[in-house]
Parts: sequence; structure tokens; C-alpha cells
Amino acid sequence: MGEAISDPYIAGGHEFAPKHRSPLADLHEEVDNHWPDVLQTYEDLRSVSNPGKDAIIAKHADEDDLSKIRQLGVPGPPQPLMSVIDEAYQILGYRICTNHPLFLSFTPPSMSDISWIAESLVCAFNAHVGGRVTASGPCALEHTMTEWLASKLNFPPGSGGIFVSGGSIANMMAIAVARDQILKERDSTRAVLYIGDQAHYSIAKAARVLGFRDDQIHSIKSDSRFRICPGDLKNQVRKDKSQGLIPFLVIGSFGCTETGAIDPLEQLADIAGDEKLWLHVDGAFGASVTLSNSHHHVAKDLSRADSIAWDAHKWLFQSYGCGMLLVRDKNILASSFHAKSTLLDNSGRVNNEAAEFWDLGLELTRPSRAMSLWFTLRLLGVERAGQMIDHGIHLTELVEDALRSLPGWDIITPASLAILTFRYNAKGRSEEILEKINTGISKELLDSNAASVMTVRLKDGLLALRVCCINPQLTSDDIAELVANLHHTAIRVSWNVSQ
Ligand SMILES: *Cc1c(COP(=O)(O)O)cnc(C)c1O
Repeated sequence: MGEAISDPYIAGGHEFAPKHRSPLADLHEEVDNHWPDVLQTYEDLRSVSNPGKDAIIAKHADEDDLSKIRQLGVPGPPQPLMSVIDEAYQILGYRICTNHPLFLSFTPPSMSDISWIAESLVCAFNAHVGGRVTASGPCALEHTMTEWLASKLNFPPGSGGIFVSGGSIANMMAIAVARDQILKERDSTRAVLYIGDQAHYSIAKAARVLGFRDDQIHSIKSDSRFRICPGDLKNQVRKDKSQGLIPFLVIGSFGCTETGAIDPLEQLADIAGDEKLWLHVDGAFGASVTLSNSHHHVAKDLSRADSIAWDAHKWLFQSYGCGMLLVRDKNILASSFHAKSTLLDNSGRVNNEAAEFWDLGLELTRPSRAMSLWFTLRLLGVERAGQMIDHGIHLTELVEDALRSLPGWDIITPASLAILTFRYNAKGRSEEILEKINTGISKELLDSNAASVMTVRLKDGLLALRVCCINPQLTSDDIAELVANLHHTAIRVSWNVSQ
């Protein structure tokens, strides 16, 4: 590989060292020889990304498996192509199969296999979507996509944004933008931001990374429906101002991870307007409902936000690593993320052109995440994408209706944006026994590969079961079977627990 293949030679009067073969020459040959096998691998991957109900939901590595993986982890000398593919299969196989139709925990990816076909294209082109000079086509597409998505949120003309790796980064960028827009030169050590007690953990983390102390993050109590109490927010802002603090940002949730709860955005927006605060909405999971055909009205108050975090790898059918930060005024991103660069500033930018993406976010080198989402939506059509979102809401409501009709089940929080929490409440049992029963139900369902329905501990300490039914492969028959399984398992487990 890469060895010298001839003597030194003269060209243009200069004596060059011996010619070298490309170090990749052998590899190209190997890939050529195995191309039919590689294509077969792609064929096989369809069933990986689209598992049937018989696929194993959770496959965890034991100590022996882990020690084998650690050995494989050290690259070492060259290996044959097909054996490396084989090893990759082995390593990746130890995971919770989050795209199994009956994986109903966390936020299951609603990914379709179209998404990785798109990603294969994006990776093969490997366009550098930092700026127009490196990828004018994909940059134009990203501008159009972000403007279109912002228009779907009913943001005004002039809105837009940027694709990022996910909600955590989008939330962090939004806090930085709010700080720069509202605090400006003011003393940031006295600044305060407000979140609900149900806010996603990524928000406090991002605030801390940006230099805010924990005591600058004021958590507002939620009501019995897990939504921020606007009155409490208002009182807290007033109190903080009277004490010389500088409120600058309120963050509402549109689809809390635990319960799907939606904060009262209209009231939050009014308070933000009165008190001159930035309103950011964490819609990582829930904002997709804006594309729903039957439920888009639920999202109408999103239009009041200054910025919104929205994940396409949750409820917009993309594989991981695809999220957006959308802002009411797209020009403000550059005031937080532009920096001078001798290299980039000379890369052919025309002064009056819109800023480059490398000026709108943290990343310089970035893949075309917008292309992946565009591909999916272009292929599906917006109407069908909307139906796929409706489908998830409908199925979650089916679970709720069925459980309400069965004895022993309490609905803790009704279906909200495809999230439902509930528990089996066998009469006369102590809280401790009920916890054992519900944890037991979750464990038995997973052990028997019937479904992944995890428990969640809600704010008042109550332990509930939770489902999020957004996988478009799920059918109403699956839901009927799930509910039957839940009920039989609950009866069996509560019988065993009392023995
Ligand atoms: C998932 C989620 C996040 C974090 O997004 P990532 O894409 O995982 O970084 C933030 N907020 C909410 C409400 C979420 O559901």
C-alpha cells in the first residue's frame, strides 16, 4: 500500500521522488470485488431500520459481549471488508431497538427507512453546508426549508433559522440569542431566566454551560396539568425586578417529555411582552404537530414565540441528528454567532447577501440535515406526513379510551401530543405495592418482548406507566393487543405481588 513503484523522475526540469500509488488503491479493488455483497448489506439494512414486531426490542450486552466489543474497539491491522461489516452488525446489535413498533418509551423515533436513503445521498455527496461558496445548492435549500417550517409555525415573513443536531443544541443557542438580544450590555451576573418545573433537563444544563449560575434559573411551579402557572411567573418576575435582578428570558414547553403537557403559551407571550422578556419555546418533541392535518390548531400559539426548538428526529421521521432552531427574525442569529475570520470573510461573500450558515450557528463544517428532511417530506408529500402525525395522536387516544373502559386503570395525564401516563391501581393496595405492581408490569412486558412501556416518576412523586405512540408502523390492531397485554400482565403481576 502506498509503496514506491518507480524510480525518481524528472518533470518540468524538477526531479521528483519516486511515484507512489494511492494508499487507497487496494481498498478500491476490495470494495469493487465485494460490491454485490455490499448491496446485499443495504438490502438487509431495510429490515434493521424497519423491524417487525418479532424483532427483539432490547438486546443488552453482557460482560463477555462487552469485553469482545472492547477488543474490537482497538482498530489494529487491516481487516477484510465483509468481516468489518459483520463486526459492525454485532456491535450495533446491542441496543434498545427504539424503532421497534412497540418501543413506546422516551420519544420513540418515528423514523422511516426513507430517512437513511436520504442520508446515504447526503453522506455520499458530503456537501460542506457551512456557506454558499462550498454548497450553494444545499444552502439555498436550507434557507427555503427553514423559512417554510417557520411559516408553518405562523411566524411572520422574515423568519427562518438553522438546522442543528437536536433540541439540546437548539435550546442552548436560543438562550445565547435571548441573552444577546435582551441583556445586551447589562450585568449578566444579575440576569434571570424562567423555566417550568417540567422543563427538559437540557435547558438548565445549557444555561449553566453558557455561564449562568443555578440561582439565575428560576423554576416556576406547574399546575395539576403540569403546565407553568402564568400568575406565579408574573409574580416571580415582578419580585425579581424589585430586587434588582434582570429577568430576560422565559422558556415554555410545547410537549413535556414526561406527560406531553403544553405550557399556556398565550399567557407566557403576554407576560414576556409586558416585561420585555424573550420567549423561547422548547417544542423538540411537540412542534411537529403544526404539520398535523387534524390537530394543527393545538400549535397555534407557537406563533407567539421569539424562538422555537424543533426536532425532526423525533416526530418528523428522520434518523438521529436532525433538529432545528427557528426564530421570528432570522437576521438576529448572526448577531450571536458571527465571528470574524480571515479565511471565511474572503470566501466570496457579497456584502448584501444573507449571512452564511457558519455565521448563524456554532458549527462551521456541517452536513445537509435540511436535505434529509426535505427528501422525506418531498417523497411523502406534506399531506401524508400530516396524516402520519395524526395517526400517532389517534393511536395514543385509543390506548386512553381502552384503559378507561377496563377496571383497575387510572389515567394520570390524558393523551397530549401522543403521550399518555396511567397506572394500574389495584384497590386497597399501599403506594409501595402499587409501585411494585406497575414496575413489574413494565418489566414483564419487556421481558416477554411484548412492548417497551417504561415507568416515569411524575413531579409529585407518583410512579406511572407512560406510552408515546408515534411510530407510523403501529396499527390499531397493535394497540388492541398492547392493551390486552397490559391488562393481563397487570392482573398476573398484582396477583404475584400479593402472594
Ligand atoms: C428530546 C428533547 C430535548 C432534547 O433534544 P435532543 O434532540 O435529544 O438533544 C429537549 N426538549 C424536549 C422537550 C425533548 O423532548
